Amino acid sequence: MKKNLLLLLFAVAAVSVKAQTLTNGGKLRPEQAIMDIRHYTIALNVDFEQKSIDGFTTIDVIMAQPTHVLLFNLLDSLGVSKVLVNNKPEPYKYKNNLITINLNKVLPAGKASVQVFYGGKPHVARRPPWDDGFIWTRDSTGHQWMSMTAEGAGGKLYFPCKDHPSDEPNEGVDMLITVPKGLVVAGPGLLQNVTKHGDKATFHWKTNYTINNYSIIFTVGDYAVVTRQYTTVGGHTVPVQFYVLKEHLDKAQHHLDIFVKTIHEQEKYFGEYPWVKEKIGIVETSYLGMEHETMNAYGNKFRYIKVGGEDYDEVMHHEFGHEWWGNKVTAKDWADYWIHEGICTFGDALYIREFDGEAAYIKLFQNDVFHIQNKTPIVQHADMDEESAYIGDIYVKGAFFMHTLRYIMGDSLFFPALKKFVTSPKYTYDNLVSTNDVEQFFTQEEGRNLKPLFDMYLRTTDKLEVHVKQTKLDQYVISLQNIAIPLPVDVTTSEGTKRMMVNEKGVTIVSNTLPVIDANTFYLKKVIIE
Ligand SMILES: [Zn+2]
Repeated sequence: MKKNLLLLLFAVAAVSVKAQTLTNGGKLRPEQAIMDIRHYTIALNVDFEQKSIDGFTTIDVIMAQPTHVLLFNLLDSLGVSKVLVNNKPEPYKYKNNLITINLNKVLPAGKASVQVFYGGKPHVARRPPWDDGFIWTRDSTGHQWMSMTAEGAGGKLYFPCKDHPSDEPNEGVDMLITVPKGLVVAGPGLLQNVTKHGDKATFHWKTNYTINNYSIIFTVGDYAVVTRQYTTVGGHTVPVQFYVLKEHLDKAQHHLDIFVKTIHEQEKYFGEYPWVKEKIGIVETSYLGMEHETMNAYGNKFRYIKVGGEDYDEVMHHEFGHEWWGNKVTAKDWADYWIHEGICTFGDALYIREFDGEAAYIKLFQNDVFHIQNKTPIVQHADMDEESAYIGDIYVKGAFFMHTLRYIMGDSLFFPALKKFVTSPKYTYDNLVSTNDVEQFFTQEEGRNLKPLFDMYLRTTDKLEVHVKQTKLDQYVISLQNIAIPLPVDVTTSEGTKRMMVNEKGVTIVSNTLPVIDANTFYLKKVIIE
């Protein structure tokens, strides 16, 4: 989602100025807890002169219980003109970013369809993608260019919804977006058709996959569509579509060459691309980037760095990694946001390892240690909202945790386990996950309880304490005092470096020099010389 490691401090600073209302998640309201969202249809006309939208959203739900009240989130920068429930008008109130529908008679449990007619000027982003909203601008040739981000604000930025990470529309979304003729709309899933009427055109985008609210996004510009066919690791042929501004068309083929390398690399570690029945998509945006399912926002302006001697786009690689970590594997509570950002950021490091080598990968994490703030645990408490959960450590410490886990388990166990998690039906698509799920899974794969390690890295700000006690002129005892499981540690003595299992009791080693502990920085640690 929001950033890569280089932008970490910049982004964290931006968070503090966000408006309080532009967040989502937190404690689920009881009126919404009994509601299962199945599908959204969003039909909007976009007026570029007025910077406004106008139309309706239809919400298909299954109610677990009969109810008198239906509750949907929508930022009250907009106006609602009519609400229909199962095609009948119903009274509603619209304030505090909530539409409260007080039904004329009890709605029975089961399927229901709610249609909300609305419009107005949606909230404008001040500093996207760290600050959410619509972005109205023009490209350098003067064409209208509109995009949006909503990870913090949530879907309620511009459509009425149940704005909580625990519920996605399991049957997907239809988007019918009308724009002035000549402009092109990019969206999730597959383009069904374009209908022209007068000086306008309606683009119908449709995804059948479950999708998070902040991926339900459309982008409008003077786009050309550059396509390729990609064969996945599972043997599926999937179209790659790049919605690139016409003014940058000459850059598209090289960009896709780089992108294909990114797709291969992510598939190698995380398994087949998750949305093979639809497409692999990127769309050029005026902001840096965001992981919108099957249509990732790309705004890094073709600024590449060299990895393995070849061009690499770290923003695109990161956002695309979220197709697995965030979109396919989704945390049901923002408290567990590190699963999206930490593991995705670890995936970025794996690209460096693949093409620049293990030493470059080690160096990356040795530098990252200095960016870990460790002010609060990365898993704070249940029912977090997005803004409160969004701290820099979910990226850098979350990634570092995976680095530590890799060292502890060893590559022959760790990499297959990581792929097994992200390809297991139990933890993907409709089945949302928590930190406990990750902990229990890796505990099972490792064959011993890893809870003390998960607790230390994720639920506290503690660091591993490694004690080094000299017992004779050339003899030392190495021990771990603040964790209840033995762990492997690299110990460098006058004889060289050995990996040894260390526990509370300690291991005795012989060395003519003071032993160096964990020289390659596999742990977030404190070394205490006694
Ligand atoms: Zn991200």
